[in-house]
Amino acid sequence: MKVFELTRIRITIWYVLIIMSISTMFSFVIYRGVIGNIESSFRNAEVRFEKNEGMMALRRVAEVKNPNVEVTKEVLHGLFLEELENSRKNILLSLLILNVVILTLSTLVSYLLASKTLLPIEEIIKEQKRFIADASHELKTPLTSLKTSIEVSVRSGKLPKDIKKLLQYNLEDVDALNELIDKLLNLSSLESKEPVFDNLDIKEAIETAYRRVKYLADEKKISININTKNYQLLGDASSLTELFTILFDNGIKYCKQNGIINLDVKLSKNHLVITVEDTGIGINKKYLPNIFDRFYRIDSSRTSSAKSGYGLGLSMAKKIVENHNGSISVSSEIAKGTLFTIKLPTKQKLV
Ligand code: ADP
Repeated sequence: MKVFELTRIRITIWYVLIIMSISTMFSFVIYRGVIGNIESSFRNAEVRFEKNEGMMALRRVAEVKNPNVEVTKEVLHGLFLEELENSRKNILLSLLILNVVILTLSTLVSYLLASKTLLPIEEIIKEQKRFIADASHELKTPLTSLKTSIEVSVRSGKLPKDIKKLLQYNLEDVDALNELIDKLLNLSSLESKEPVFDNLDIKEAIETAYRRVKYLADEKKISININTKNYQLLGDASSLTELFTILFDNGIKYCKQNGIINLDVKLSKNHLVITVEDTGIGINKKYLPNIFDRFYRIDSSRTSSAKSGYGLGLSMAKKIVENHNGSISVSSEIAKGTLFTIKLPTKQKLV
C-alpha cells in the first residue's frame, strides 16, 4: 500500500535525522576536544622551547623539514601551525567518513526498523478491510432472498392495498441496502486490489460512463457536453469508467432541471487534465476539504433526487485517481456550480 510506503520513508527520515543530529553533536565535541588538546600541547611546547628546556625532538623535526634554516621560535611556530592545520584536516576527514558510514548504516537499519514497526498496523488494517469485504459479501445473500420474497408477496393479489404499499417501501429499502453493499464492496476492492493497467482510450471510458447515466440526465433535461480527443493512457478501464460515472452522477444529482455538465480533456505533457464542471447548486467552501471523506454528505435535502447517496462516491473517485497516481481537486461556488479537476498520468510505472 502506497500510504504505508510513504509512512515507512517518513519514519526512516525521522530516525536518521535523530541519529545524525546526535552523531554531528558528538563529532563536534570530539573535534573541539582533540583540536583543543593539540593546540594546548603546541603552546606548551613553544613555552618549553622558549625556556630552552630541550625540545630536541621538535628541533629535529624542523631541521629535517628544512635543514638550511636555523631553528628559531618563529620557525617552530610556523611548523606548529602547519601541523595543526594538517591535524585539523585529518580529524575532519575521519569524522566526515565516520558520519557517512553512520548515515548509510542508520538509513538501512531505520528502514528495516520502520518496516517492522509498521507491520502489525498494516496487518490490522488489512484484516479490517477483509472484514468489511466479507461482511458486505455475506449480507448480500440474505438480502437477495428477502428481496425475492417481498417481490413475490407484492405481486400476489391476495394482500390488502396498504400492506402492498408497505412492502413496496420495504423493497425500496432493500434496493438501497443492496446499492450500499455494492458500493462498500467496490470501495474495499479499490483499496485492497492493485489496479490492472492496460492501454486504453479515455474517450471510450467517458462515453461508457455517459451511456450509464444518460437516462438520469434525460429525466432532468440536463445536457452533458463531452469535449475530448481519443487520448491514450495506461489505466484501469473499469475503474476509470466508474470515476466518470460518479462525477456525472453527482453533477446530475446536484443540478436543477435544464442544468449543464461540461467535461473537457486536455493533454499537458505526460498528463491528461480532465475538468468536469456543472451548473448545479454548488458547495459551501467550508465543506470542500471534507467532501472526499468516506460517508461524508453535506445535506441530503440539497438534492431533489429520490436517491441522495451515501457519501461514498467522491471517496471512491479519489481512490481511483490515486490508484492511477493522479490527483483530484475541487472548486465551487454556491448557486453557480462545481468544478472537479483531475490529473492523470498517461504512463504508469509498471512493477
Ligand atoms: P453522495 O453519494 O452523497 O453524493 P459523494 O461522496 O459523491 O456522496 O459526495 C459527497 C458530498 O459532496 C455530497 O453529499 C454532496 O453534498 C457534495 N457534492 C458532490 N458532488 C457535488 C456536485 N457536483 N455539486 C454539489 N455538491 C456536490
